[in-house]
Amino acid sequence: MQTKQLYLYDSYKKEFEAKIQNVNGNQVILDQTSFHPLTGGVSYDMGHIKKGDNQHKVLRVEINRETKEITHVLDNAKGLSQGNIVKGILDWERRYRLMRLHTAAHLIAAIMYRDFNALVTGGQVEYEKAKLDFNLPKTEREIFEDAVAKANKEMDKGTALKTYFLDRKEALRMPGIVKLAKRTPPHVKELRIVEIPGIDVQADGGPHINNTREVGEISMVKIENKGKNQRRVYFTVK
Ligand SMILES: [Zn+2]
Repeated sequence: MQTKQLYLYDSYKKEFEAKIQNVNGNQVILDQTSFHPLTGGVSYDMGHIKKGDNQHKVLRVEINRETKEITHVLDNAKGLSQGNIVKGILDWERRYRLMRLHTAAHLIAAIMYRDFNALVTGGQVEYEKAKLDFNLPKTEREIFEDAVAKANKEMDKGTALKTYFLDRKEALRMPGIVKLAKRTPPHVKELRIVEIPGIDVQADGGPHINNTREVGEISMVKIENKGKNQRRVYFTVK
């Protein structure tokens, strides 16, 4: 059974109640969860699942792309069984940092496209830092420095992000998001849209902050050459 993805509706939901659907070894599937799995270029959440006074550590969270079942890999699942009501508590320090880095990644990717015609070809947001790959003929440090400086300026504006759901057909008519929307499976009727007004609009399932001001200060970590026209930039937030 598909797990209800609470994080799609509220990125700031730190605690939730859920019913256990299945226990397999140290892996637990719930009917709903705020834990974001490793997907969409954003790392997984950590935290705890509690039943009464017993705490179980959430080490990793995975999603089955087909069934949309979300698996919580625990340190142990002793005493947990199907039908139990449990409480989920996110490691908020980790999640909030992932949200800040995720929104920073959207800002940088949008500016790289707008000002340098560079298309993002991949990326991953981890706890320590995030990386983005771009289609760029030359490694020019100044380009990335400029993009990061511009992203930092955007944060100072304190733009409020918008998250909403759009009918797939309607979403596909929006110019910027077509590329990503086409990648989502055709049976998905509604797409979640994350918009940084004036900068970026994406079909996106990951958690984001509410306001660009929350990103903090972005700094570049390093640039790597990944072959012909492929440049990778690593960055972090303070
Ligand atoms: Zn995203």
